[in-house]
Amino acid sequence: MIGSRLLVFAALLALVAMIGCGKTDSRPATDGDQEQSPADGDLDDVDVEPDVTEDGDIEADTEPEAELSDAEPELEPDLEPDIESELEPELEIETEPESPYLPGPIAFRFPLADEQGKYSTDFVFHVDHDPEVHTGVGTAICTNFEGGHFPYCYDEHRGTDYMLQGRFEAMDAEIAFVYTAADGVVLHVEDGHYDRCHIDSENLGPGNISCDGYEMRANYITIEHTGGIVTKYYHLKKNSMLVEEGDTVACGDAIALVGSSGISSAPHLHFQVEDAQGEVIDPFAGEFSQPETYWYQQDGPNGVPAEICP
Ligand SMILES: [Zn+2]
Repeated sequence: MIGSRLLVFAALLALVAMIGCGKTDSRPATDGDQEQSPADGDLDDVDVEPDVTEDGDIEADTEPEAELSDAEPELEPDLEPDIESELEPELEIETEPESPYLPGPIAFRFPLADEQGKYSTDFVFHVDHDPEVHTGVGTAICTNFEGGHFPYCYDEHRGTDYMLQGRFEAMDAEIAFVYTAADGVVLHVEDGHYDRCHIDSENLGPGNISCDGYEMRANYITIEHTGGIVTKYYHLKKNSMLVEEGDTVACGDAIALVGSSGISSAPHLHFQVEDAQGEVIDPFAGEFSQPETYWYQQDGPNGVPAEICP
C-alpha cells in the first residue's frame, strides 16, 4: 500500500513538474518577444510547438494551444504602443514648437539677426496699449503687451524698438542687417535722410532728439504681406537699401542696415505692424494685446522672437 501510494505521489510530482516546465519554457519566450519585435515573436511561436510535442502528449494537447491562442491577441496590443511611442516624439518636434499662444494670421520671423548679442534684449520698447495720451514727463507712462511699463514701452509707441549694442560704432561696421519678417511685396522705400540722429545732450528730456541741423526724417521700408498686413522698418541707414518698390521679397531677405534716421535717439530698428485698415497691431500676444501671436515663435532664444521663417 505504502509503496503504491509513493509511486502515485511520485507520478503526480513528475506530472506537476512537467506542467511547470512547459509553462516556464514557453511563457518567458513569448513574453520576451512581445516586448521586442514581431519578427522575433513569429520565430518563438515556432519554437514553442516542438517543445510541447517532446515534453508530453497529454499536456501538449491542451495547454500549448490555449497558451498560443492567449499569446496572439496579446501581441497586438503590446506592439501598438511601441510603434506609437517611437513615432510621436518625432512628430511633435517637427510640427509643433511648444507655444502658450494662439497662432495669428501670419507668422513673422524676428527682423534682425541677434547673434553675438548685437541688440539689447534688456531694453526693448514695445507697443503702448494705454489709450491715454500723455505729455512732458508723462511720455514715460505706458503699458506693454504683458503689463510692463517704461522702459518696456513709452507713451503712444506704435511699434517695437530693438536697440543696436555699440551704437554708432556698430552701425558704421555695416553688419547690422534688417530682414523681412515674412514673404511679401515692397510697397515703399524712403531713403536719403540723415542717419546719425541722437539724443540732444543740450536739451535733455523725453523725446528730445537732434539730427545735427538736418531734417528729422526717417529712412524706411514698408512691405505688404498676405491678408493686407503691412510691416514697416524705420530709422534705416542712409543709402543701405537692398530692395526697391514693387520687389517681391521672401521671409528672411536682407533689405537694409540699421541706422538712426528720423526721431531716433540711437541706432535701432523700429518694427511696426499694421492690418489692412492701417490699424497698429502689436505682434506680441499677451494679456494687454491679444491672445494671438504674429511671431512664428514669440519666446525664442535670447529672449527675442525666433529668427525662423515658417
Ligand atoms: Zn520706435
